[in-house]
Amino acid sequence: MSIKKPLSFIHSPYLLYADNKGQIFEDDSLYAVGRLVYDAVPIPLEDWIELPDGGNLYELPQRQAIGIDVKTGEMRLCTKGVAVAAFIPPAHTGLYLAAYETANNAPTLPLFAYTAVGWYQNKFYVPAVRIEKDIRQESSGYSKSAIALGSKQLLKNYPKNRLVQHLMDNCCNTYHCPAARNLSLGRWECPIPTSPACNANCIGCISFQPATETIVSTQDRLTFKPTVAEIVEFTVPHLLSAPYPIISFGQGCEGEPLLMWETIRDAIIEIRKHTDKGTININTNGSKPNAIEALCKAGLNSARISTNSLQPSIYEAYYRPNNYQFNDIVESLKILHQYKRWSSINYFVFPGLTDSEQEYQALRKCIKGTHLKMIQWRNFNIDPDWYLSKLPINHEQIYLGMKQLFNLLNNEFPKLRFGYFNPPIERIMGNFEKDFARIEE
Ligand code: SF4
Repeated sequence: MSIKKPLSFIHSPYLLYADNKGQIFEDDSLYAVGRLVYDAVPIPLEDWIELPDGGNLYELPQRQAIGIDVKTGEMRLCTKGVAVAAFIPPAHTGLYLAAYETANNAPTLPLFAYTAVGWYQNKFYVPAVRIEKDIRQESSGYSKSAIALGSKQLLKNYPKNRLVQHLMDNCCNTYHCPAARNLSLGRWECPIPTSPACNANCIGCISFQPATETIVSTQDRLTFKPTVAEIVEFTVPHLLSAPYPIISFGQGCEGEPLLMWETIRDAIIEIRKHTDKGTININTNGSKPNAIEALCKAGLNSARISTNSLQPSIYEAYYRPNNYQFNDIVESLKILHQYKRWSSINYFVFPGLTDSEQEYQALRKCIKGTHLKMIQWRNFNIDPDWYLSKLPINHEQIYLGMKQLFNLLNNEFPKLRFGYFNPPIERIMGNFEKDFARIEE
């Protein structure tokens, strides 16, 4: 799991371009650069790491890459082909977006994250950091044969359970969801989708995209409401047998779980009659503070609230909430602190915006006001131009830089934790630097 980088770079990685047929080439007349909001910027050499295992490369139709001319030092377009970006694997946070110029009639890009990428000494490099040591979604940790066996066994064990069928047939074996695959392997975090509906209309929703949009959601939304019995039947055995067991309500293949809070409350109460082992978590948009309170009273251990920004205008422009406001998510975080539960934000990282001065001040205010425990720095799966076209922001952003942002927060809030995944209770109550899924030394 070591971060691979050369002892020292002689020069920046070269720019990459593609031929619209899936072939990728380096252009050694140009150095690769990055993007922060609207600006193409050079990337400091120390920010590059080798593209980690499990990363992917995308060619970006009708977009021309921007680079620095190796002779003149001037920024210019690569006219040899289309731009290329990297999708970096979980546990890593991108520091710069891919830099390119978009043609007027270019198609909107699908819901993936587009990090800058370059070529150096026969390897792909990306500007990123490993933000999470937990190895639960390491691509090398998934054996196809073991997953096939495990999912078959779960379906055999729970033949009438619609939720197990959905998780194994759709999530595990169709979408290859890392959490559902871990369930089939009887380890770590088990996903529990419950809600076919949502009270937000996120621009980049991964489970529902209106027919008017040209892009599609990456998975279909759940179509039924599971019962308490269906939830309890397979989650209690998981809590009893899995290493670092977590069961998590709120998944990418559903709407908002808090719309099903009564079912979730009753399921938590029933589960805790059988075992007090493991962690019961909810991933949510945090829109219903009263429901969060009811779940805390029932025995919820932790919650992760997703957000693209801690600035109300930018939050509401993206989430387009129905019958709730930005302040409701802040209230939910405060209630989690009041009940001494672990609170995280699932922070959609957009380089240039997330590390802007305005966003930093809004984040500080939120951390102080809610005693936030953890930030999960997630790469934002969205077409950057499409996203920016929907936001009330101006071009004049003051960039701190993602690494500078990490340092400022670490200095001011030394107890605040950084990561990418929901921590198990063993890590929350134990040694945060040791008690989680990792390769034994
Ligand atoms: S809160 Fe989740 S399910 Fe609801 S619209 Fe946003 S991304 Fe989609």
